Amino acid sequence: MSKAQTAYKEIEKIIGSEFISDKNFMKASYSRNVDPAFPDRWADMIVRPESTEEVSEIVKIANKYKIHIVPRGGGADLVGGSVSEGGILMDLTRMNKILEINENDYYCVVECGITWGALLSELHVKGLTTGVLGPGSGYSATIGGGLSNSTAGFGSTKYGLVPDICMGVEVVLPNPQGSIIRTGAAVSKYAKPFCRYGAAPDFTGLFMGDVGTMGIKTKAFLKVYPETPYKAQRYYILSKNDYTKVFELMNQLRKEVRDGLHDVLVVPIIVLQLLAGMVENKPAKRPRMKGPMFSILVEAIDKRILDVYLEKVDEVMKEDARPFELQEFDPSSTLSKDWTFNLEYAYHYFNKFISVSPPKVSCTTCHKIPISAISEAAKASITFDIKYKDEFPAQSISLFASVIFLLPNGNCVIVGGFNADNVDDQRDLSMKMWHKKIRNQVRYGGIHYWLGESISQSIVEADAYTPEFIKFFKDVKKALDPNFLLSPNKFHMYSYNHDIGQHIIKDDE
Ligand SMILES: Cc1cc2nc3c(=O)[nH]c(=O)nc-3n(C[C@H](O)[C@H](O)[C@H](O)COP(=O)(O)OP(=O)(O)OC[C@H]3O[C@@H](n4cnc5c(N)ncnc54)[C@H](O)[C@@H]3O)c2cc1C
Repeated sequence: MSKAQTAYKEIEKIIGSEFISDKNFMKASYSRNVDPAFPDRWADMIVRPESTEEVSEIVKIANKYKIHIVPRGGGADLVGGSVSEGGILMDLTRMNKILEINENDYYCVVECGITWGALLSELHVKGLTTGVLGPGSGYSATIGGGLSNSTAGFGSTKYGLVPDICMGVEVVLPNPQGSIIRTGAAVSKYAKPFCRYGAAPDFTGLFMGDVGTMGIKTKAFLKVYPETPYKAQRYYILSKNDYTKVFELMNQLRKEVRDGLHDVLVVPIIVLQLLAGMVENKPAKRPRMKGPMFSILVEAIDKRILDVYLEKVDEVMKEDARPFELQEFDPSSTLSKDWTFNLEYAYHYFNKFISVSPPKVSCTTCHKIPISAISEAAKASITFDIKYKDEFPAQSISLFASVIFLLPNGNCVIVGGFNADNVDDQRDLSMKMWHKKIRNQVRYGGIHYWLGESISQSIVEADAYTPEFIKFFKDVKKALDPNFLLSPNKFHMYSYNHDIGQHIIKDDE
């Protein structure tokens, strides 16, 4: 019997035969994320534990037989993060319970395999919310995936990224003991998990945005907020295609409207034109669209305050933009004054921006930059696309941004990428260009968030990390994962002895 088969038998005894499989149809259905360039990758076995203790036992067995593990939540990753070639793919979605909603102290305790949709629906009944609503994939994506990917989503303009609402986690370390630790206030056996700092050094951060390399998150302690009852949506279209103006307006909105801003999104003109072209019932006359569209969502605890926010938004925008309605090119869309906010709106909004030309999927390159750098980043990105236009897969559209999303303070997410087909003869080409484009973004100062395999490796290739940082990263990981079992390949880390520096690529830019 191979060591994988022996491990299978031992894991089966712990979680039961229904929750482990090495059948081909199971391996096939877990072989991909939502990314066109990666080949299918089949794990040796799919395991679906139901408790932290079961996760810990599986980790012990994996250490005994030196079999690697990749954790997986909803599998909605866009960058090859939650699939595994060989080894154990650990699906955490059976760990989907809400353990506590504390309405007095505004926090909740959940198992990390619960989806955003399920958690928010329960919170909504109690008039509560997590503020940031998780990713556009939130009907299937999990809290564990959001924490591991430093996810942004609706509500991020006001409440920040998913790790910003996290006050601690319970984690199974990938060591031979399968140690179970907690972070935040929960490190104290006397305290409720109501705050993040003060009980010990802040180890929560070790596991945020780690793309499953440092531990397997089993529980999360999250902030909750009372829902804000009044929300309104307004659209404006700029009179010029000018990214410096986009920065100035974002900066001004932040200054004038502050906490009233729930979300500020900017849709570039090219994307508007593509969307207008896809509409089924087109109006007789095309609207004049010369610049990007601002989509501004404000929220307030009182209708009068909401009206003040809307007035302030109008004051900021009126010099450089005119009020706009999506109905001008899509008569089936709702007028902004009739719009109401719900989860379906939040979770369907981004789907159209993941690929603006279905059925292709994007090699996504979403990253963050300071808002003052939008113009420079757009220039660098467009110059790159023109210079290497012949190297992209045929008929692929590369976009600097399909949406620009304001985050707290003065930074923003540039949602973008280029699309490709999920077909064998385009994979190498797409993967090569994907890495090259990300290296370009890293070198103009872009900071990504979901890193998976393709982005974490490209950051290494761009030579962004100092040797001292790489040594520190490896030393910390080695303390937690001495047998190097958790999520190999990410960051071009193939073993602790492997010299990551050999993957640096000097591009001709
Ligand atoms: C249509 C669509 C819209 C999207 N919109 C957004 C968006 O608005 N914002 C955004 O940021 N992303 C978005 N994404 C990308 C992705 O879905 C999110 O980043 C999401 O948070 C991933 O969650 P998941 O549960 O599916 O994670 P998975 O894909 O299962 O895993 C993601 C990473 O986290 C690790 N991981 C998962 N669970 C755990 C755990 N419990 N412990 C340790 N590691 C773990 C995995 O190993 C992997 O590296 C979108 C994707 C799609 C397809």
